[in-house]
Amino acid sequence: MKILGVDIGGTNIDCVVYDGEFSYIDTFSTEKNIQNLNSILNELVEEHRIDAIGAGIALWIKEGKPLHAPNLPLIPELSFSIPLFLENDANCFAIFSHHIFRFPNIFAVTVGTGVGSGIIINGELYRGNGLAGEVGHVVVGGDEECHCGGRGHLESKFGGWALKKKYGRDVRDLMKDRQFFYNTEEFRSFCRQIANVVTVLDPHAVVFGGRIGMNLDKEKLKECVCSELMSPFSPIIEILDDELAVSKGACIMADKRLKEK
Ligand SMILES: [Zn+2]
Repeated sequence: MKILGVDIGGTNIDCVVYDGEFSYIDTFSTEKNIQNLNSILNELVEEHRIDAIGAGIALWIKEGKPLHAPNLPLIPELSFSIPLFLENDANCFAIFSHHIFRFPNIFAVTVGTGVGSGIIINGELYRGNGLAGEVGHVVVGGDEECHCGGRGHLESKFGGWALKKKYGRDVRDLMKDRQFFYNTEEFRSFCRQIANVVTVLDPHAVVFGGRIGMNLDKEKLKECVCSELMSPFSPIIEILDDELAVSKGACIMADKRLKEK
């Protein structure tokens, strides 16, 4: 059984193949390729003799239906002759976080173009009524317009696009100035929201990833998140340093759903 795992994000589309082990295939620019994504993926399916596809996409999905994709230029139409399993990209990240770290209860947070999160409870993805885990769109105050259409959301402060807009610099470059970055109001606001979720869920671990999230300093995160928590709460903080975490999580999600069929 060969599964193609695809991460359709706001900036890049990453592809891996899973057959018990992961192999990296390719990365494309989202802007340039999302319109032709269906034919690009169909070519990969033929070339690599793929049996099923798992796609993690920056999309709100409810009851299997795509609702809203604030950080994508368009919602791609995907159709294949083999099974396709779609899942929110942050949920795929959470699934891969569980695959790697194995804690039963995990709050998994991705920071890249946007801010996303997924919740693992007793080893299973928690979807709630379909949209659980959208921490990027909780209101943290301020009047900045969010890509989703709301205002004052966490993502409109701490998402990659928002930080770049405010500071006019590449975010990874901005992060190199540690004294500055870890004292910004945006970083504190991000940590406060993580602490709020920890207070509600009390997960064993909070796992951070994504292009920006994986470059955050673990000790600074721990210090800042814990400073916003009551003392009995002390989650383990982990960084999942893998740019392919979403595409790999999409493979594991598809593999699991195939076995459940
Ligand atoms: Zn929003």
